[in-house]
Amino acid sequence: MAKKKIGQNFLIDQQVAEREVQYVNPDKEDVVLEIGPGKGVLTIPLAEKVKKVIAVEIDSQLVKKLKTTLPDNVTLINADVLKIDFNTLPIFNKIVSNLPFQISSPITFKLLAYPFSKAILIYQKDFAERMVAISGSKQYSRLSVGIYYKTHCRILEIVPKEFFYPVPKVDSCIVELIPREKPPFDVTNEQFFFDMTKKLFSLRRKKIKNILKDVYGKLENHPYIDKRVEELTPQQIGELSNFLFKMNP
Ligand code: SAM
Repeated sequence: MAKKKIGQNFLIDQQVAEREVQYVNPDKEDVVLEIGPGKGVLTIPLAEKVKKVIAVEIDSQLVKKLKTTLPDNVTLINADVLKIDFNTLPIFNKIVSNLPFQISSPITFKLLAYPFSKAILIYQKDFAERMVAISGSKQYSRLSVGIYYKTHCRILEIVPKEFFYPVPKVDSCIVELIPREKPPFDVTNEQFFFDMTKKLFSLRRKKIKNILKDVYGKLENHPYIDKRVEELTPQQIGELSNFLFKMNP
């Protein structure tokens, strides 16, 4: 029986699986990390086209079954992907996963700290829309800013919920993530930029000057302080962050 708590909605459409593998642009030199192989719907077609697949699955019952069906170039690891140190795995250059939706956010941030060339990931549709949202939209969030700063991110297709079993509550999207070679704008201190972005979005409906007045006193001379963070583009948030970092209260 599928375990809801760990996001077990299995892909049952082979054509979607084949397309997902194609989006990876599989190459005989590729070593691909797969998160949550489940019953192997992606693992097996992918393994035919790449050098190696490292498949990390938390469910030991699934691991037992999978072991008997996978080709030799798949290394199957029974572990929680959030707890694994990626540096202890063989070096991988690509990532593929039909992600368990409960870990969408922490696994995305964990992946972004690792140097890969391309990830093809299925997310729930609302999460995927927040990833690519632009300023001024309802879905624009701290996640959108972080994703824009670190990657080129695209929604490749919407996958209707009926293509999974058990059928989840919402549709999903196939998302492509390609890390940027360099940031799209200058940020003086990245940690400060991310911390400030988080703080401002936690009070997204408030004017920036009212959020920051406790720390910086009366903020003048900056064009963005009368706005709300949701109105600012990632680059403008970066400019504000550089300005505040220089003030160093
Ligand atoms: N790839 C399969 C498919 O497309 O049918 C399964 C996808 S299902 C949405 C998510 C898979 O991730 C399940 O097999 C689940 O057991 C596994 N999983 C859930 N949480 C995990 C974690 N923290 N670490 C590794 N695997 C996890």
